[in-house]
Amino acid sequence: MKYTITLQEKHYVELKGHLLSGDSNEHVAFVICGRSLVDGVEERLLSREVVTLADDKLISSEPTQVVWDNQHFIEVLKKAESKNFSVVVVHNHPEGFDCFSEIDDKGEKELFQLTFNRNGYNAIHASLVMLADGNLIGRVWKTDLSNTPISLVRIIGKRIVLNYPDKKTDYETPEVFNRQQLAFGKALVQDLSKLKISVVGAGATGSATALLLTRLGVGELCLIDKDIVEQSNLNRLHGAKISDVGKYKVDVLLQYINEIGIGTKVSVAKDWVSDQECINHLKTSDLIFGCTDDNSGRILLNRFAYFYLTPVIDMGLIITVKEDNSGIQDLQGRISYLFPDSDCLLTKENINTERARADDLRRNNPESYTKLKEEAYVIGEKNPSPAVVTFTTQVASMAVNELLNRIQGYNQDYLDFPHKLFFFHKCGDGSEIFPANKSNNECRICGQSNYWGRGDMQPFLDMSN
Ligand SMILES: [Zn+2]
Repeated sequence: MKYTITLQEKHYVELKGHLLSGDSNEHVAFVICGRSLVDGVEERLLSREVVTLADDKLISSEPTQVVWDNQHFIEVLKKAESKNFSVVVVHNHPEGFDCFSEIDDKGEKELFQLTFNRNGYNAIHASLVMLADGNLIGRVWKTDLSNTPISLVRIIGKRIVLNYPDKKTDYETPEVFNRQQLAFGKALVQDLSKLKISVVGAGATGSATALLLTRLGVGELCLIDKDIVEQSNLNRLHGAKISDVGKYKVDVLLQYINEIGIGTKVSVAKDWVSDQECINHLKTSDLIFGCTDDNSGRILLNRFAYFYLTPVIDMGLIITVKEDNSGIQDLQGRISYLFPDSDCLLTKENINTERARADDLRRNNPESYTKLKEEAYVIGEKNPSPAVVTFTTQVASMAVNELLNRIQGYNQDYLDFPHKLFFFHKCGDGSEIFPANKSNNECRICGQSNYWGRGDMQPFLDMSN
């Protein structure tokens, strides 16, 4: 069982501004967190709100100790109580001591005893220490008042920043990644090796994405798709051979990636994305690639990014041919980076909700779908729709580069643009980029913050709303 925490970037900035405010004394803040639990695998805390404790409310503040009145803490516990949220107590170590001190041990034990007594024994809580360089170390406090180190602190925003205790400054890059390290440094290689990424959809873009992530040295992949390889897929499915026809797409990729043999661990799920096994994989991922053209699946991923503070890089390719077959009408690639401060796929009208209903029907009741489609009562893809491997692969490449930039930051200006369109049939660089636009945004998912970091709830992702 591992314990991790994900902070929204703006929460991290708020904490840093308060704790490292310039003097050399300790300061205090609290973070109220939603929770994400997969039994026996991972429990993850998800930041929802930061409450800072103003210095004039402290009883004393020194370089190695800070004392405050519990009454302020109880106000925070009240806020967390009704939805069983977790509370994270954060203080700083101005002198850079990168462990919890004996004073911390004693003080926190009393604090969390009070927390369990008051808010009940239904949630774990945690504490973080911010070091002088802004790095974070942490531990969770369990109901028996024992504590366990937090193995990963993610800061999720325009950038993706990972703090983990075993991060090494003298990391030895495996030889196979030396050329990549020459471009982007060893920190990126090390960060990629820590990531678990889910790829939803193992078709044209999904197979390309999975193989690119493997060759970059991503630590762990989960491939989600229930489709079988057909001969007509072989024009665009990376890693698949004629002898693979009839096998699960994810099994073919699993074998291919294992044979590449450069360290990526792979698991597969041959289920629809809303099945529990898939959801557990999503909940234990650090990032998700959306490589499905199923609108209903993308509605789920779109919500998931905000509820679980797990960035989703969604991609799509549209190829349309002119009515009279005289040539290409539209040849358009799309990359969307979804995180709390970006506008979502629904707001950007990248999901067709009518088609999502049709996709649900096709999956749940294929006979009735076929009948209705024949009678033109439901809309659906033209069957089969055009697909060309060079363009599906290009879109996958650009989506994976989006990940590299969010971690490494090689193109700072691009970070302000979560949505990108590429027009491959037009002259010039053929792209349009869109900053997050939240003005007059009444979307329940991206326009208000109530769902951000909400984590586990019934119903899952509040899907009935
Ligand atoms: Zn939205």
